[in-house]
Formats: sequence, C-alpha cells, structure tokens
Amino acid sequence: MSNPAQHLLERLAIHQICTPNSSSNIETNCYFINDSVPTLIDTGIASSEAYEALSAALSEHRRSVADIKRILLTHGHADHRALAPRIQAESGAEIYYHHAERSRVTGAPSSGKDPGKEIEFFHSLGVPHDLAVRLVDGPEDPAIKPRAPSAIALSGGEEFLFDAMALNVIHTPGHSGGSICFLDNEHDLLFTGDTLLPTSRITAFIELEVSVQNADYNPLNLHLESLERLEMLGPKQVLPGHGDPFHGCSIINGEVRERHRKRRTHILRALRHGPKTLYQICRSVFLFNSDEDLYLALSDVLGNVGILHDEGKVRQRRDGRHFLYEII
Ligand SMILES: [Zn+2]
Ligand SMILES: [Zn+2]
Repeated sequence: MSNPAQHLLERLAIHQICTPNSSSNIETNCYFINDSVPTLIDTGIASSEAYEALSAALSEHRRSVADIKRILLTHGHADHRALAPRIQAESGAEIYYHHAERSRVTGAPSSGKDPGKEIEFFHSLGVPHDLAVRLVDGPEDPAIKPRAPSAIALSGGEEFLFDAMALNVIHTPGHSGGSICFLDNEHDLLFTGDTLLPTSRITAFIELEVSVQNADYNPLNLHLESLERLEMLGPKQVLPGHGDPFHGCSIINGEVRERHRKRRTHILRALRHGPKTLYQICRSVFLFNSDEDLYLALSDVLGNVGILHDEGKVRQRRDGRHFLYEII
C-alpha cells in the first residue's frame, strides 16, 4: 500500500487484522475501526487461533474483544461471519448483514431449503451421488458452525456513521446473494469482502436454495454486473476480504472478465467432441482435489455455460436425470 493510502487509513482509524482459516492457508481480513463505536468489518472463523489473532491485534490499539460494539458482515460465508457470535456474547455488539444471508448468519431455517431437491439438482449436473450428498451436507468443521440469531438485517442503501467517515451499504449480489460492500464516498474507500479481491480467481457461488427453484438464476451474471457497478463508483482504495488492499478496481475487473472469457473458450473446446454434462465439462476444464474445489468449479462452469446459452452458442437438453450441453 502506498504511503498516502496508509496515512488515510491511519487518519480514519482503520486497521487491517488478518485471521487464520482452518481449511486453507488464505487468511481472512477483518477491519477494525477504532471509533467511538468500535467496529469490526468481518470477523474470521470461530477457531481459538482466529480469536487469539483478533484479540492480540486489538490489544495493540488498547482495545479488547469486549469493547467491540458493532460488527458489519460483508456476507455470510463462514470465514467472514463465524466468529461474530462469540464476539457478540462477550461485548454485546450489534451484528449487521444483508437479509439474503439470513439462514447463513442467523441459522434461521430457510423456506427454500430442501436437501432432497438440492441433491437432485447436483444429479442433474451429472455429479455422482456420493459427491452430491457431500456437497449438500457441507464440511463438518465446528469452526464454521456458530450462528447469530439476533443479528440485524440490511437491504442496501443504509448508512453507518463513524467519527471520521460514513459508510454506505451497497448490495453487490453474485459471490453470494447477500454480498454487500461498504463505501466511504468522501474518501473513495471501498470494503469489498469477497466481491472484489486482488485476484481474478474469485467467483460467484451456486446458491443452492435459489438454483433449485429457478433454473435461470445465474449468480455469475449478477457478480459481473456488481463488479461493473463498483467500477463506476471509482473507488481509489479497495479493502478486500482476503489479500492486501489495492488501488482502483478496473485492472482487476478486466482480469476477472478475461478469465471468464477464456473459461468459455475452454468450455466450447471441451464440447467440440460431443455433448457433456456440466460435471464432465468441469472435469475437462478444471483440476480439483477437494469438495470445496469441486463446488467452486461447478459454480464457475454453470455460470459460464449459462452465459454461452444466453449468447446462443450452447443448448441444453434433458437426457434421463441429467442435462447435457452441446454446441449449437
Ligand atoms: Zn465468500
Ligand atoms: Zn472469504
């Protein structure tokens, strides 16, 4: 980060805190705003290692977990929200999140949740049964389980006031349905969670509960639209959910668009030798080792196949319990 950017963050009392994750070596960024209402943007997972890292960093600013009064969650993925309930229990902090993440953040049962239909959805993509069951059940790690039943839902457009700035809530669906960014208009600062990262590898996840009800739902399209909207806001300093803060967003957005364009070329190449299920396309265009990788790969390919379908380059037809994709 450049010196002027660092000085600005210091002036606004914004401090980046990195917390470890158990399933990967990628740390999560939490941002501590040392305000008269001490605030955290995102929290990390609910492991003792993440708690200790947060606690140690807060003590450098003569604060403790018990001082936190407000927690803003960029989205409901566990690496951003799972530690929030423990912080709330110790401090009484209010937790804010976008309402589309309700079941992830609060644990409230979702009306659209139907594991049988979700497994059937993966079957329709050609995913073998045992893998489909694992994808629907999700990982068992206790560090991702805690929920915050009393968190407060946002819709986008709200404003949070601080001593030295104001943050506006911008709904940026795609990476997840309720992903939000926080924009400080006056200082051109943008907190982006996982919507905009310093790597083009981030993608939009399949939202199972939405996808099983609406076959046309394409989170990748929403994600790319959200990135365009953020680009129009022209933030100077981006504070992402992973990796180092960076300047501007047009270069990285260009890389994201290019990566997806290349992926569509690879998908068309994979389909040259005949129709394939989505899972077969994934196996030809991705190398993956874990269930999490597979989930990401399926999300990426499903989104890009949807774009190829909208462009009239690929068609889909049912073949028994699967969908097959073929070049038009
Ligand atoms: Zn995420
Ligand atoms: Zn993340």
